[in-house]
Order: sequence, then structure tokens, then C-alpha cells
Amino acid sequence: MISYGKQSINLRDRFSVFRVLGSSNLTQGPTTLQFESEVAKFTGAKGALAFNSATSALHAACLALDVGAGDMVWTSAISFVASANCAIYCGADVDFIDVVSDTGNISIDKLKRKLKKASSAGTLPKVIIPVHFAGQPCDLSELSQLSKEFGFRIIEDASHALGATYRGSPIGACEYSDITIFSFHPVKMITTGEGGMATSNSDELLEKLRLTRSHGITRDPNRTSQSFDGPWFYDQISLGYNFRMSDVQAALGLSQLNRLKKFVAKRNKLANLYSRRLIGSQWQPLRQESGRTNSYHLFIVQSIRGQDREEAYKNLVSRGIVPNVHYRPIYRNTFYKNTGKFNSKDFPGAENFYRTSLSIPLFVRLRKHVLKRIIRTISEN
Ligand SMILES: *Cc1c(COP(=O)(O)O)cnc(C)c1O
Repeated sequence: MISYGKQSINLRDRFSVFRVLGSSNLTQGPTTLQFESEVAKFTGAKGALAFNSATSALHAACLALDVGAGDMVWTSAISFVASANCAIYCGADVDFIDVVSDTGNISIDKLKRKLKKASSAGTLPKVIIPVHFAGQPCDLSELSQLSKEFGFRIIEDASHALGATYRGSPIGACEYSDITIFSFHPVKMITTGEGGMATSNSDELLEKLRLTRSHGITRDPNRTSQSFDGPWFYDQISLGYNFRMSDVQAALGLSQLNRLKKFVAKRNKLANLYSRRLIGSQWQPLRQESGRTNSYHLFIVQSIRGQDREEAYKNLVSRGIVPNVHYRPIYRNTFYKNTGKFNSKDFPGAENFYRTSLSIPLFVRLRKHVLKRIIRTISEN
């Protein structure tokens, strides 16, 4: 069976994990520190902090920006539910921004209109979480300008976009945002089994993220007003969680990070091949915008006729190929639907996107002849 995405683990990846298994440190330790410093170097951010998932990292990022009860957080209508849940964990309210239906990224025009309305109603968001959908960066410069005009903070959900760039700068550099989050779930760009990372240029935010990651505990004498009873002393100064990554996972991450550039190049090559072969068919790939490079976490095609998606899905499955649909708009999920706050009529871009899109297999080891078979299969109906 061939699925829409999967990891690539080579011998070096295995040896990297094997080495750590024989060391004295299995939980967060020197390998995690090294992985963090390599991600900071790769992205150009001042600091990077590893988490046990992107979901935890998003939660911690919201807390670092003081998201709480009475606050509003906006994210994309087309994303994984974790992009929205992180705000709910903090007791905040969530609203969604409609997407451009041929890229899946949030619509800056609609965002502008929504912000103006919210401004007059006094319901502006504290934080906006843009999602670099499928690996194509959002318009960060526009977002950053709007954040200054309307006073919100930005957490980039870059779960899909490690290795992508915006105007020549790597996603994760946080040139236009406060915090960027990556995911290392096996289908994402690189994997640690489960895992995530937060990058930031703010020492204050990095320190808050660090505290939240590990129970709110500090050993820094400058951060507590209590006096040290002895060398064993630590003090819990806020409420945190256990969101730590283990060194076993970090060892895999380090080794995978070494392969990232090749992964991105290969995914781009396969995506270009798909795109060329789709010309003249009833399917088209997502539109690529200028000034940015795509990491191609996913390869999504859209039915021009708007009616072939189910048929194509079934045909692929009957040939042992299992595509997927990313994503059903978040507000359609029972949990969000039950709030009674959302109306699909407010999100025509997301609805159109959802109706026509299909994620077909894209992973580093996808063979060319399989790719051709996929194109032939979806072009049949
Ligand atoms: C995968 C994903 C997440 C969650 O990542 P985990 O590491 O599985 O917690 C969040 N947001 C988006 C957009 C994702 O694709």
C-alpha cells in the first residue's frame, strides 16, 4: 500500500539513535541541546526549543504570549485541528480566517476586512496563527504589517514548512513573527517519531517557553525570590507541563536534519514532475506564489470540474494507493460546530478548497513509475 506521505529512515538515522540508547542520558539532555542549536543555526533564529510535539509547542507558544480567558486567537480555516486547539487549551476563543482556494493559505484580503470589522467591534485577536499550508509560506510581510497596525502577535504554524523560504529567509527565522513552530511527526519534513520545535528571536519568549516545557521549574537563582537551601534546590515559579523531547528522539532529529536539504530538493523535483504531467488534465496543482520556496510537505491537486474527487480517491485505493484530504475545515468538526459560532457560508474559500482538493502521494522515496501510475489513474475519469 502506498500512502500520501511517509518518513525516510536510513542506516545513519538508526545509528544515531543506537548511540544515544547506549549513553547515560535518555531524557532531555545534550543531544536535545545539540538538535536545538542545529535547528537555530538552520533557521537563523536566536534560539530553538524542542518539544514532544508541535501541539505542545503551539500550546506553550500561546501561553508565552499570555493568551488566556477573554482573549481571541485567529487561525486558518484549513489546517490540522491543533492550530486552533492550542488557544482553547489556554481558555481563549478561536475564530477562523478564510483561505485562498487555490493555495490553501489564509487570504490577506479577507483578513484585512475581518480585522477592520473586529477593530470597530472591539474584538481584535491577541494572536494570529498563520499556517504555511502544504509547505508554501504565507505572505509574512503583509501579516507583519497588519500585526503592527492592529496590534496582534504572530505564531507561525510551520508544521509543514521546515526547509521553505520567504524572500530568501528560512521559515523559522522569525523575521516577521514572534514564534515559529515545527512538527516532526513522521509524515512531516523530518521526523523524531513524535516531536516539535519552537524558534524565536526573543530571549523573554524563549525563557517562557522553556519554563512551560518543564513544569514551570527553574534552577536559576535570578528567577526566584527564594533563597537556595542547597545545591539540590529548584523552584516552581509558574504552572508548566512535561512537554520535553527525549534525547532518543533528538538523535533521530539531528540525523534527519542533516538530510533535510536533500529531502526538500527531492520533494520539489517530484512536485515539478507531477505538475508537468498534470498539464492538460482535469487536475491542477496548488498555485505557487512568487518570492517564496516550497518545502512540499504535501502535494495537493484540485479538480477543475469540482466533481471528480471521490471517484479519483476510489480509483487510487483500488490500485493500492491511498491518498488523503487535507483538511476538512476545522469549524466543521463536532467540537467546533457545537459552539454554534461558525457558519460555513462565512468561509467560501475553505469550502471550495475542501470540495475539490486531494492529497496524492509525495514522499522522498516515491518512485517515478508510481508517480506516473498515479497521474494516469486520476486522469481516467
Ligand atoms: C502536524 C500538524 C500539527 C501538529 O503536529 P504534532 O507534532 O503532531 O503535534 C499542527 N499543525 C499543523 C498544521 C500540522 O500539520
